Amino acid sequence: MISIRGLTKRFDATTVLNAIDLDIADGERVVIIGPSGTGKSTLLRCLNFLDRPQSGQIRIGDLHVNAEKATKADILSLQRSTAFVFQNYALFANKTAKENIMEALVTVQKIPEAEAEQRALSVLAETGLSDKADSYPTSLSGGQQQRVGIGRAMALQSDLMLFDEPTSALDPEWVSEVLDLMRRVAERKQTMLIVTHEMQFAKEIADRVVFMDEGRIVESAPPDELFGAPKDERLKSFLRRIN
Ligand code: ATP
Ligand code: MG
Repeated sequence: MISIRGLTKRFDATTVLNAIDLDIADGERVVIIGPSGTGKSTLLRCLNFLDRPQSGQIRIGDLHVNAEKATKADILSLQRSTAFVFQNYALFANKTAKENIMEALVTVQKIPEAEAEQRALSVLAETGLSDKADSYPTSLSGGQQQRVGIGRAMALQSDLMLFDEPTSALDPEWVSEVLDLMRRVAERKQTMLIVTHEMQFAKEIADRVVFMDEGRIVESAPPDELFGAPKDERLKSFLRRIN
């Protein structure tokens, strides 16, 4: 169970997350939608302290972090319980696909190198990239790079996978292979929090869709209900704009 209470993030005088409350059940897939600049990425980044929230509580399983009092150990534990998939892949250019997947296993999770390598190879097989284990990012297509990015997150076997618009930097031809891989991740009952503009995919994969606007959660419902019978005017107007 993941529980977020009162999560607040300000950049200078601007409040970007305004007391966000959100619960996510184990194995649940929650998709976040909303206008640009509304705090979707910031919410994901605050959950593992890539951005430090000013206040609020984050519970992931037994781990309970109070943002105001978070210690280095708390932050490390949060970062160990979450795995982030970035829009722009964020692979190390000087490391091969296999080494990219091994990196956090060895440095953050302190897994012995040989075991990390085995795990990386098995993830590469699952992502259909066994033949690319020793390739560097520049020799991979965008779709392949993002599959490595997702493989890296899978290898961490974390409680919560965070996806920030994982397909929006891709050429259209590579989108479907990345969405297919995300479907496979979902089949493993992995808890997923996904920011995406792929509404069709959201309808298909989400147990629940959350609409954010101006730093707040405005509406949260199963996809049929949220897309089929939106209540809030801001959501209605957002859906009109994107359709
Ligand atoms: P998009 O759909 O365009 O990705 P978003 O919903 O992910 O938008 P965020 O990236 O979370 O929005 O940004 C929310 C607000 O916070 C924006 O107004 C943005 O300018 C501001 N912001 C984000 N990061 C920083 C930062 N490091 N310093 C100052 N302001 C920031
Ligand atoms: Mg964003």
